Amino acid sequence: MLSLANAFNKNDVEDFIDRVRKFLNIDNKEKIKFVCEPKIDGLSVNLNYKDGILKSASTRGDGKIGENVTKNIQTIVGIPSKLEEKNYPKQIEIRGEIFLNKKDFIQLNEGLNEKNKFSNPRNAAAGSLRQLDSNVTKQRPLKFLAHGIGESTKKYITMSEFYEDLNKWKIPSNNLIKICDSINSMINYFENLKEIRNTIQYDIDGIVYKVDSLKLQRRLGFIGKNPRWAIALKFSAEKAFTTIKKIDFQVGRTGAITPVARLSEVNIGGVVISNATLHNFDEIEKKDIREGDKVEIQRAGDVIPQVLKVVKKEKNRKKITKPPLNCPVCGSKTIKEKDEAVIRCTNTVSCDAQNLGGLIHFVSKKSLNIEGLGEKQINQFYKLGFIKNFEDIFYINRYKNIILDLEGWGELSFQNLIKSIEKSKSIALDKFIFSLGIRYVGETLSNLIAKEFLTIDAFINSSIDKERLFNIDGLGPKVINSIYDYMQNKRNQQIVLNLSKILNIANFKKPKSHKLFSNKNVVFTGTLSILSREEAKYLAVQLGAKISSSVTSKTDYVIVGKNPGSKAKKAKELGISILSEDDWIKKTSS
Ligand SMILES: [Zn+2]
Repeated sequence: MLSLANAFNKNDVEDFIDRVRKFLNIDNKEKIKFVCEPKIDGLSVNLNYKDGILKSASTRGDGKIGENVTKNIQTIVGIPSKLEEKNYPKQIEIRGEIFLNKKDFIQLNEGLNEKNKFSNPRNAAAGSLRQLDSNVTKQRPLKFLAHGIGESTKKYITMSEFYEDLNKWKIPSNNLIKICDSINSMINYFENLKEIRNTIQYDIDGIVYKVDSLKLQRRLGFIGKNPRWAIALKFSAEKAFTTIKKIDFQVGRTGAITPVARLSEVNIGGVVISNATLHNFDEIEKKDIREGDKVEIQRAGDVIPQVLKVVKKEKNRKKITKPPLNCPVCGSKTIKEKDEAVIRCTNTVSCDAQNLGGLIHFVSKKSLNIEGLGEKQINQFYKLGFIKNFEDIFYINRYKNIILDLEGWGELSFQNLIKSIEKSKSIALDKFIFSLGIRYVGETLSNLIAKEFLTIDAFINSSIDKERLFNIDGLGPKVINSIYDYMQNKRNQQIVLNLSKILNIANFKKPKSHKLFSNKNVVFTGTLSILSREEAKYLAVQLGAKISSSVTSKTDYVIVGKNPGSKAKKAKELGISILSEDDWIKKTSS
């Protein structure tokens, strides 16, 4: 689903409106309408209706293709399998949120065994929707509210118009939605909702503001994964007091050792918290946090709860927790790198914590997304020696007979695991790069790298070429060194090579091409009057053009606004095609 940029105060929202105005080249005199609605902390789904019949439904956890939950979704009250009113478009994709009311969440948890309890309403909704048996899903009181539109054969003009249709089709949308056209009314809406937040039946963690006009939304487009036309204004974090029972060390997949506070359990906004991060050892020292102290902790949305400060020191205070000289898991020496706050385990080959962390990352949702193979199962198989590295996952069938005898496994769950492992073998190049867990290489950078190399073979052969890496726009020296070091390592090379044979890694899909502007060098000059410079550039990139700032013999088009100056003159001299802003807009839409 969409990921939204966050705002935390009125200023941030004002900045957002300014950015929208600037991008669209709309001045303050003209009002822009915004849809304001509560942000529900649930599970995003896509409903696909063809000829008024629900054809498929999927979760969109990764922003691209999600898992198919069609059968289970039909058990949810409020999601019609057939649209009643006849005015529906031939095809329409309706986006929305699946969630549980607060009361239902508590009731559901009360009926579950200690080990099956859900930690928050969102996990409960996700877990319920992903049940293998749709009869179980049916018994869970899941709710649905629509909040967005995807592909549609009917071209809606505004979100409001779309919401009116939803009403006719008896698809629930939020009844707290309001259209506002000024910063003050938008902030008032937020304040009102904050007041009544506790009386609302479901959990909300803020407000979403969306540009109402779908035409403007299309023009605004995206920055990375964030739509330029929407923002979430979050409620401030919830806080609570509790005691630190113990300070432990956690070793992550990159060897980073993080101090973690084990807490006396405390309930914050319906979620039971028993651990909080202390970030790093400098922070422990700075805040002088020790075992036994009473502390204030904070939880904001999805973020791991954190310890804010000590509110009462324990009488006989323990010594302050120092960074361990040895890795608490494998015993190897630790180091603190220059300019880094983090302590790391130096054993990059055989530290169980790092290996396990790497495996968990590799199978996680944003990586290979292997259902039925989570942290628990990886731990189990790692201990038994069945899965020691990425490759082993694809040969798990060897241990079928032993696994079937293990507690919690049966023929059906094992077959499902094999199916999801098979499914995970088809993977896009950017996801594959991300799944390797190279330090500093997150989703966005994986995407940039994939865009540069396009194929897995090119990635294997050329990512050891530092110069090539330096040419990728958006990669800093720290990241480049990290990729270089990773790919220089013979063992890693072998891992990537073997995986490239086991998996079916799809080439990176280039952005759609345009017959005139694809792969062409474009220069903008002068003041544009219809589009903002930012929108013009964004449009050019969307069409596959490359933008340069100066006119050379390699330039293909120069787009001139008012008072163009020397660039236009130079283009004339070089005989380069010159387009007016009007011409350019006409040609881009043809
Ligand atoms: Zn270690």
